[in-house]
Amino acid sequence: MAGKITFTMLKPDSVENGYTGAILEKINAAGFRIVAMEMTQLSKKQAETFYEVHAERPFYGELVEYMTSGPIVAAVLEKDNAVEDFRTLIGATNPAEAAEGTIRKLYAESISANAIHGSDSDDNAQIEASFFFSTKNRF
Ligand code: UDP
Ligand code: MG
Repeated sequence: MAGKITFTMLKPDSVENGYTGAILEKINAAGFRIVAMEMTQLSKKQAETFYEVHAERPFYGELVEYMTSGPIVAAVLEKDNAVEDFRTLIGATNPAEAAEGTIRKLYAESISANAIHGSDSDDNAQIEASFFFSTKNRF
């Protein structure tokens, strides 16, 4: 399975703004298969753990607060070259720098409320997918 999956979250701004359907449509149209999916709200502890790698960054507290502010949609996605292709589909972290047609260009509000998460490596895709979904709940 290595190289074939990535993990995503539609962030609170996407759900709040009613973009869930449009974003999932774009993900499917780009050739990703949904392996697992759940709508949920992160606890402070979960958000802190998920973004632990950024714990020393100045935006960490704000990021944790934002990511717990409303429901998110978490999903595991499958495709050849999933991690890299999904990062291309979502675009740059800062929507002001995101390429035309990318999910962040189309739907993000700001560098913080930037619509969507995508894993940055195969190893992190496995770790992040396992953070949310047991193998029993992947199809
Ligand atoms: N973030 C932020 N301010 C910054 C950089 C990042 O609020 O200056 C937030 C943003 O929501 C981003 C997340 O922290 O998606 C994780 O940052 P990372 O650099 O990993 O960006 P990503 O991999 O999501 O593009
Ligand atoms: Mg990242």
